[in-house]
This record gives sequence, structure tokens and C-alpha cells, in this order.
Amino acid sequence: MISGSAAVQDRELYQQILGLKSPWTVSEVSLSLEQQQVDVFVEHPGGTKFCCPECDQSLPCYDHTAERQWRHLDSCQFKTILHASIPRVDCPTHGVKQVNVPWAQKGSRFTILFERFAVEVLLATQNVKGAMGILRTKWDQTWSIVERAVARGKARKQTRPVPHVGIDEKAFLKGQNYITLVYDLDHSTVEAISDGNDTEAGFQALSALSETQLQSIEAIAMDMSPAYVKAAKQAIPLAETKIVHDRFHIMQIATKAVDKVRRTEHRELVKEGDDRLSKTKYVWLTSQENLSEKQRTVFESTFDLQLKTGKAWAFKEMLRDLWGQDSAATATTYFQDWYKRVIHTNLEPMKSVARSIKERLDHVVSYCTHRITNGVAEGMNSKIMSIKRRVGGFRNRNNFKTAIFFYCGGLSLYPQ
Ligand SMILES: [Zn+2]
Repeated sequence: MISGSAAVQDRELYQQILGLKSPWTVSEVSLSLEQQQVDVFVEHPGGTKFCCPECDQSLPCYDHTAERQWRHLDSCQFKTILHASIPRVDCPTHGVKQVNVPWAQKGSRFTILFERFAVEVLLATQNVKGAMGILRTKWDQTWSIVERAVARGKARKQTRPVPHVGIDEKAFLKGQNYITLVYDLDHSTVEAISDGNDTEAGFQALSALSETQLQSIEAIAMDMSPAYVKAAKQAIPLAETKIVHDRFHIMQIATKAVDKVRRTEHRELVKEGDDRLSKTKYVWLTSQENLSEKQRTVFESTFDLQLKTGKAWAFKEMLRDLWGQDSAATATTYFQDWYKRVIHTNLEPMKSVARSIKERLDHVVSYCTHRITNGVAEGMNSKIMSIKRRVGGFRNRNNFKTAIFFYCGGLSLYPQ
């Protein structure tokens, strides 16, 4: 306890630091050097009236809660703790209620200013454990700030039109457990998350959007799995004309097919003592513009249209031009020509890609109408993976979802 005029100054200083307004005043400031802590006690004069938190009616104080504590921003690197008993009023309509205090939100053990700072640190570090070190908070406390921020952000969120959305799955816990995410492709934000990766999960995630939002969807990007196609048809009006299979996803499948061809051919060649395809895997997987100098040399010396691998690679590259067509109609013609050539080869993995695209061609060439991809989702994947790593072992799926909304939800997270 600090006494004399110094005490008065301290009380005034903390009154300002805490931004306290009438009727609240600082009654006592006590400093513990040993604990490196400042305790600030706050009170109000007797006879003060308070408002019912439900209806704002001004009422006399009924009684007080036991003393509560709130962590505030450090002062001179000392942990600063605010102490007060919260008044309760007896409202004729709502009964006995605890009043709102100006320095903290209901249910929080932190002052608003501390929470604001904590959100800033969490966003800047993108790392809950790192933020704990800076804030000197425990895991549960830090996590409660994240949860409250997300709840706040969701409550405040205005529903805006979402003309371009994407839907995608994400593994949670090494590939055995999935969640489905819906993205706003124009704002690069995660709009909804559901458990699983089947039709029901897709439908659940899409249904989290409002009716107006679902009607505002002009196009939806997704991979070629039938589950999300079904889900989109269930949730989105006129979905048939709006589905766009992600071109990166399709090119990835085509690239994998080239690799399959290479592996088989390599085995055949090795039997004949020919090892020219050994150690060339990445040369065929990497797109031309991304090849390193060395890889390019290997590619140029190996590339041979007499090889099955060379042929498969050339077909894959031809397929790429599908997405450069002016319209869905020309893209369809382009594909049909490509398909005819591929289907008459003996490149089984490429043929299987060709059939797979043919089955859903409308939803592939629709790219030329809508020009969307799930690129945003891919970009966000790396962000989500790093969150997963940095937040550390999401045993709990809900925590994982909360972290995704915190970092990728585009929410307004700060307390006002
Ligand atoms: Zn009331």
C-alpha cells in the first residue's frame, strides 16, 4: 500500500490509465515488488444507482458480488490486476442482475484494453504459444481470449453477398478426420466450417450461409469429388450451371497420371538395362516455368516423344490450354479433340483422367464462364497448416475450427 500524497497521485494516475469514469474511482493502489505486481482496487460511492443490464432501467444497488479480479495491461512490466466487487440490481422485470462494468466485457477475466492488446499480439505472432510468452498468460486464459474474439466477430458479422465461393476439405489429425470449409473467394475468408467431408458435411457448411447469401452465389469452385457436387445441388439454387471444378486440382490429377506412366515405363526400361528415367521424377512433375536450370537440362536430354512418359507429359501440357479458351463452347471442342487423341493411346493413367473429365465436362469448361479457382483455398491451406503447427496439437476439433475463424475468418475481433 502506498500512502500520503504519492498515494493520491497514484490513484489518479491509475484512474486515468484505466479510463475510469464516474461513479468508479480507484480506492487503493498496492505494489508488490516481490510478486512484480500492482493491485488496483476500484469502488463506487454509496447510494450510486446502476442500470439493469437487460433494460437499462436505473436502479439502486441491491448488493455486491464477492471481489473479482481482471488482468490489465502491465504497468512498468508489472502485472497489473484490477479488483472490484460488482454491484447487482433488483430489476422489477428481470430480477437480480449483475451490472455491466465499463472496463471489462461480461464473463472476461481481462480488462477490455488487455483483451484488445492480446488479440493484437495473437494476430501478429500467429502463434498462441508465442503470444502466451509475451502476454504472460496461461493456455486456458489465452484460449478464452481467442474464443471470445471469435464469438464477438461472428455476432457482429454482417452477411454480405458471396458471388464466388469455394468448398474444400481439410484433414484434421493426419488424414483420418476431415472438416469441410466454405470460402468467400473474393475476400479470401473462411465463411463456414463443418465436420466431415461427405455430402452431408458439404450441405451443412453451405447451409451456414444465409438464404440471401446462397442466392447470391454465381459460381462455386470445388474438386471433382461427387460429394460436394451433390451438396451444392442441394443447397444452392440452380447449382448445375454454377459448379466449377478447380483447374489446379484437375492438373494435379493429370500430373499424377504422368508420374504413374513414368514409374511403369521406368521399370520396363530398367529390365532392358535402360535407366534414363531414373531420378527424373520431379522433372516431369514440375511445370516448365518452375524448372531449375539443372532440371531443365535433364528434361531436355530426357524428353522424347518416343517414350510413353514424354507422350503423357505432352498430353498433360496440352490439357493446360483448356483453361485458356475464350468460352465454354470452344473449351468443349478443345477437350473433345484432346480426348480423342488420348483415348487412342495406350497410356492408361492418362485415359482414366480423360474419362474422368469427360464425365463432368460441363463443370470443367464452366471455368471459361466464371473464371474462378480454389486457389484461395490452396493459399489458405498453408496458412491453416501453419496455424495447426503453431497452436500446437489440436486434440480438439473445435479448437482447430476456432483458430481457423480467428486467423482466416476476416472477423472484427477486437472488443470495442
Ligand atoms: Zn431490467
